[in-house]
Amino acid sequence: MTTMEIKKPDCNSIKLPSPPAIAVRLLQAVKKEESSFEELSRIISSDPALTAKILSIVNSSFYALPYKVDGLEKAVSILGVDALKNIALSFMIVSNMRKTKDGGFDFNLFWKRSVTNAVASEIIAAEIGKKTDDTFVTALLMDIGVIILFMCYPEYYQMTLDEKRVSGHSLSAAEQKVFGFDHQSVGSELLKRWGLPENIYIPIQYHHEEKFPQDFRDSVRVLKVADMASSFYHSNKGIEKLERLQRYLQREFGKDESFTNQFIDSVAEKTIDVLSIFDLDPGSLKPYSELLVEANEELGRMNRSYEQIVLQLRKEKERAEILARELQEANERLRDLAFKDGLTGLYNHRYFQELMDREVHRSTRYNRPLSLIMIDIDHFKQINDAFGHQRGDHVLKQIGKIIRNTIRASDIASRYGGEEFAVVLPETELRGAAVLAERIRKNIESCPFDLNGTKTKVTVSLGVTTYVPGKKIIQKGKIIDTADRALYKSKEKGRNRVSIIALT
Ligand code: GH3
Ligand code: MG
Ligand code: MG
Repeated sequence: MTTMEIKKPDCNSIKLPSPPAIAVRLLQAVKKEESSFEELSRIISSDPALTAKILSIVNSSFYALPYKVDGLEKAVSILGVDALKNIALSFMIVSNMRKTKDGGFDFNLFWKRSVTNAVASEIIAAEIGKKTDDTFVTALLMDIGVIILFMCYPEYYQMTLDEKRVSGHSLSAAEQKVFGFDHQSVGSELLKRWGLPENIYIPIQYHHEEKFPQDFRDSVRVLKVADMASSFYHSNKGIEKLERLQRYLQREFGKDESFTNQFIDSVAEKTIDVLSIFDLDPGSLKPYSELLVEANEELGRMNRSYEQIVLQLRKEKERAEILARELQEANERLRDLAFKDGLTGLYNHRYFQELMDREVHRSTRYNRPLSLIMIDIDHFKQINDAFGHQRGDHVLKQIGKIIRNTIRASDIASRYGGEEFAVVLPETELRGAAVLAERIRKNIESCPFDLNGTKTKVTVSLGVTTYVPGKKIIQKGKIIDTADRALYKSKEKGRNRVSIIALT
């Protein structure tokens, strides 16, 4: 349901509550010109709780008197009849219009805010030399229209608060939208009917307006300052309100930032005192300077924990780096396991096959020659049989080492099978491959192998072939086969030699 579909309450249909009974007597008494202290004192003393409250406010930090006031008579001689009447009136209204939380309306917050308004207005009015007997009660009651509207139309008022929250507009604007009038006019009308003077109800009517009757200029400006100061403490837009207050005090009264800070501090200090006399809970209300100290401490704590987090992150990062390094090493080990031969440290058969795939492809693509040498140990079975398998292994290892030390950096040696090796020579023509094969043969032949104390000669047979890319596409299998055939040619011819078969 939108606000447009609801019939708005009529301003004239609002039933304004009557003032509390004792307040009626009080108001009537002070209206008379000749009203004396005796009459006022008689009315007040009929309510001992009220008397006690009046004395406690007179003796509070709010008035900061240099001596203790212990009776109404003394109080009136210091404050005057009108001031005393206003204090009494304030107490009676606050204690009469006080339910606890009701249907979403926080009465404690409302009066806490109103008392803050009253205290702030007294301080600023004194500062600019415009304090009157009505200053306190005017500010205390400036938002009383809010309570009246809420009590008469709780649902509509809830809608108003929702409207304010959603639209982000001022409370008065939200009230205008929902009701067609606002709390200033309702409050002002109420106080007028209660018989309060126009220097109270007229400034109240204009406390949110830009334009107002110049006769009431001082009181309206005091109310505006009070409203901003209490909004600073009691609304959720605190800092924004403080900045507005600062600008307003500067513009209207030529006050600088340090005045604003001092002012806002003493508002909270004095309000806390006055609230207790009104039996209102100050809750978390604290002077601005204390809030700042707390905020700075909190900031310090946050910074410290920030440093700890950074330290922790750095440690985690180092740990992650160590883990990454370990992982890389583990991967390399796995790669070695997957592609290297455990006995000789040369690449294994699987790697050899992949390497041949790559190299054949590359050689075809760039039109470069690719040579392959196959090597097989001669009569290796006999070595095993004569000296044992372990000695045989040792020979395999040594031969692998000789092959590795003989070839160039660009050549790749692998253990092809049991006692067979293969060397892949990229970018190498048949002639160069044959020279290298011969060098391997010679180096192995001339190396004395220590087999159980006897220096023994071990020889190998080699087969060489070269792939020269041409029109015909040749498979890697054919290259290996050809090198193998060359190797067996060496075996047939009597071993310990190099044979060449050209690829066709
Ligand atoms: P040929 O000159 O004709 O090559 O004679 P050969 O004895 O070397 O050839 P053959 O293929 O008959 O025997 C190869 C031997 O190599 C048989 C096998 O026991 C041995 N052998 C294969 N792998 C290993 C190994 O890892 N360690 C050892 N110690 N011996 C191996
Ligand atoms: Mg052999
Ligand atoms: Mg063999």
